[in-house]
Amino acid sequence: SSFEEAGLGETFLQNVRRAHYVKPTPIQKLAIPAVNAGRDVMACAQTGSGKTAAFLLPVLKGIVATGLEGSSIPGAQQPYAVVVAPTRELAVQIQEEARKFSYNTVVKCVVAYGGVSVMYQLKNLDRGCHILVATPGRLMDFVGRGKVSLAKCCYLILDEADRMLDMGFLPEIRKLVTTFDMPDKSERQTMMFSATFPNEIQNLAAEFMNNYLFIVI
Ligand code: AMP
Repeated sequence: SSFEEAGLGETFLQNVRRAHYVKPTPIQKLAIPAVNAGRDVMACAQTGSGKTAAFLLPVLKGIVATGLEGSSIPGAQQPYAVVVAPTRELAVQIQEEARKFSYNTVVKCVVAYGGVSVMYQLKNLDRGCHILVATPGRLMDFVGRGKVSLAKCCYLILDEADRMLDMGFLPEIRKLVTTFDMPDKSERQTMMFSATFPNEIQNLAAEFMNNYLFIVI
């Protein structure tokens, strides 16, 4: 299969070509059609497998297809997709890839991570945010302050889930998903990427996803 068959539309396809992606990697071949078809996905994914595009491309296609009106309410941005990543470095990398793919479109991607002042990130947020890439603590901070609402989050992506487990982020992630106004698992699409699948990750998958497709490369 090819990127053309993924039904991404001409602008996204051009951006994929501009990024010098010629053919999909194995994880992209399996995950992109599954997400396009509405499935939840848990995928085994090492860095370098192309996992980032495997979730970003179908999510971009999906949010553009639903129309991009009304993403912002006074005081809070309402992203359609929230990507949770364990580290600042990974979050920035995902954001950069999302920005490449959304070039020449109206899609706005914002990154938020801890350890730095919130001011610059809040300023970026206030310009609009369709895709938010964030580390767990800073995401919780912004949701708690009413700067981000999860009410329209129809795509939830947990990247490097096993690293988030090792770093002790699972309680915070559970709280984000269950105590705020995030659509429940039957109303959103959830994707989890992890290099390993300890029990805690399998339990989280069962908790957060419906009839998920398990992709092992
Ligand atoms: P990732 O596993 O998402 O961190 O991607 C690893 C690297 O491979 C990144 O630099 C991507 O830009 C690149 N990449 C991902 N998918 C493809 C593809 N289909 N063709 C060429 N490069 C790719």
